[in-house]
Amino acid sequence: MSPLDHIIRTEIAQTGPLSVLDYMTLCLSHPEHGYYRRQEAIGRAGDFITAPEISQIFGELIGLWAGTVATLLAEDLPIRLIEIGPGRGTLMSDALRALRVVPGLIDRLRVHLVEPSPALTAIQERTLAGAPGLPQWHPDLAGVPAGPSVVVANEVLDALPLRQLVARSGCWHERLVVLGRDGDLAFGISDVPSAAPPVADAPDDSILELRPGVDDLVAAIAARGRAYPCAALFVDYGHTATRRGDTLQAVRRHRTADPLRDAGDTDLSAQVDFEALARSAISHGLEADGPVPQAVFMGALGVVERAQRLMLSAPTRAADIEAGALRLIDPAGMGSRFKVLGLRSKGLGRLPGL
Ligand code: SAH
Repeated sequence: MSPLDHIIRTEIAQTGPLSVLDYMTLCLSHPEHGYYRRQEAIGRAGDFITAPEISQIFGELIGLWAGTVATLLAEDLPIRLIEIGPGRGTLMSDALRALRVVPGLIDRLRVHLVEPSPALTAIQERTLAGAPGLPQWHPDLAGVPAGPSVVVANEVLDALPLRQLVARSGCWHERLVVLGRDGDLAFGISDVPSAAPPVADAPDDSILELRPGVDDLVAAIAARGRAYPCAALFVDYGHTATRRGDTLQAVRRHRTADPLRDAGDTDLSAQVDFEALARSAISHGLEADGPVPQAVFMGALGVVERAQRLMLSAPTRAADIEAGALRLIDPAGMGSRFKVLGLRSKGLGRLPGL
């Protein structure tokens, strides 16, 4: 049993069941034993691999996208290039390398990394040592100074803790993590209906997923966008339209695992509801573009041309470069499973590629 398993069982035994939301928060963010304290989580040698770790082209193209958007935001002021949840710092490192080719832009960029995990911040500092843009780190978006800004976030929303509600006789009840008879953790359901609006057409046991952290993040972006122009790009796995069902998933060493075992040593995430994200953005006064499949977005940004150029300049790595690019746009994999949604403050035109 992991130390966090023990803490969670003791807490449930003493104070009662946890909501899925509180359970996921503890698993990912417990200050001593939470999953994101681990330095080795992301990458081939870790538990899961993300697009920037698969191919340098991902970060390069997002960098060029951010550069194009930055030039639309303001002509004279410095531009804040903000990444939320930068993992190992690979996306930002590749983005800044690509942005060096845009004349005059790199000197106007101020780079901000929003990262609550001290362990991952340490890795990002190493990756970005000597990078342009005077990188600064912040535990949350509210700490980034005001100014015109471009925000990017890859595979961050899926890691934000999730509420799950279960339908019972037309009412939604909080899904819980309880202690089973054998002493192991198990899922349960609260007896008391929650305040979520009842849905008459939901058959018993259907599951509704809500993510309070998405609304908080959108509110922080909208607040930035009220003072200065702001554009944001979210890339994540998820669905275009809100649907019911349990999408909580646990991954350990690239394999699916049990979300109720090995707390703190297993990655927990769940699909992003892009319709809910866009709805939240619009209710906060932002405009939303997309979502489009990752393959479409990367195609519009020139993934094929970039891969061809790289393969010519590094022939010994050509097979790897091609395989990485193809994986990003694979219609049977990441290319369709991942979606891209842009948000922008009012007054900005539709964002490129969306
Ligand atoms: N973007 C990276 C890492 C994805 S893993 C990549 O593509 O490789 C998720 C990242 O989000 C981690 O860096 C994690 O620490 C961070 N994260 C988790 N919760 C967060 C929050 N509430 N705000 C900002 N970042 C968060």
